[in-house]
Amino acid sequence: MKHYILPILILLLFSCSENEDATKTTKIKLALKKEKTSNKVTGTSLVILGTIQDAGSPQIGCIKNCCKDLFLNPDNNRKVVSLGLIDTENQKKYIFEATPDFITQTKFLKNYCDFKTAETPDGIFLTHAHIGHYTGLMHLGKEAMNADSVLVYVMPKMKTFLEQNGPWSQLVTNENILLKGINNAFQIKLTPTLTILPFIVPHRDEYSETVGYKIVGPNKSALFIPDIDKWNKWNKKIIEEISNVDYAFIDATFFDAKELNNRNMADIPHPFIIESMNLFNDIPKSDKNKIYFIHFNHTNPVIDINSEQAKKVIENGYNIAQINDIFKL
Ligand SMILES: [Zn+2]
Ligand SMILES: [Zn+2]
Ligand SMILES: [Zn+2]
Repeated sequence: MKHYILPILILLLFSCSENEDATKTTKIKLALKKEKTSNKVTGTSLVILGTIQDAGSPQIGCIKNCCKDLFLNPDNNRKVVSLGLIDTENQKKYIFEATPDFITQTKFLKNYCDFKTAETPDGIFLTHAHIGHYTGLMHLGKEAMNADSVLVYVMPKMKTFLEQNGPWSQLVTNENILLKGINNAFQIKLTPTLTILPFIVPHRDEYSETVGYKIVGPNKSALFIPDIDKWNKWNKKIIEEISNVDYAFIDATFFDAKELNNRNMADIPHPFIIESMNLFNDIPKSDKNKIYFIHFNHTNPVIDINSEQAKKVIENGYNIAQINDIFKL
């Protein structure tokens, strides 16, 4: 009988250790994930809460390789473009954009804070009225959180749009949100060491104007321009603006024309990554290092950091914004 038991024992031993290995790997992966989302921010910092274009990834109805597997196996790191801003000393936290992923992004923002703080941000800054940038506000209303007077900083047309159109107007009348008017090129002092400067940029402005923001902290500053028409349509020089800050998070909706069946790039109102890289070709390496491409269409190959295109961007001295990255200000 004994000689039967030995092989069985060996088999059991093997299968056990294999299972143990798998459990160990899962545990390590979970621990890493936990660590990533339970990181606390010190000082004044920006946190990337999302990098994808308005429609997300996967995009509804997409049957191409970029999305086809993501409907059943979503990638939790693919969230719509948003930045968190935390001032630890003054115990304040802010969010740029109220995206379709606002539910988790507000929670992550809170979790990054190393101080006791409310579930909602101390202020929300919106760039414009396209779906990826403001519709998350709906979660503050009666059907969801029924929030109390959350401050939303808005440009004049954006303010009128929210006040005069449902369901947003209901948030205003119910005082779930409190609209605070801001103006082009007028600084907003949030805390003694934190100021925000909105500036108008050219974009498809059906319902509101579009702004970018300069975020100025105690030591460093950042540009945030998630949506803009071609750089030469802007009344400012992007190269000069980059030289005046420490980080620049800029529109990188498309990599090149291949994503759009080789349509003429000049007709698409965004600066393609290859166009931006051409424009920035001769700027100092130190300025290239400040640039973080963001706001990726579902088709953009750089979402995959291991893609040839992403490698090309990085080799040229630029960065590809990654969710959960933290930047000291
Ligand atoms: Zn957008
Ligand atoms: Zn797709
Ligand atoms: Zn837009």
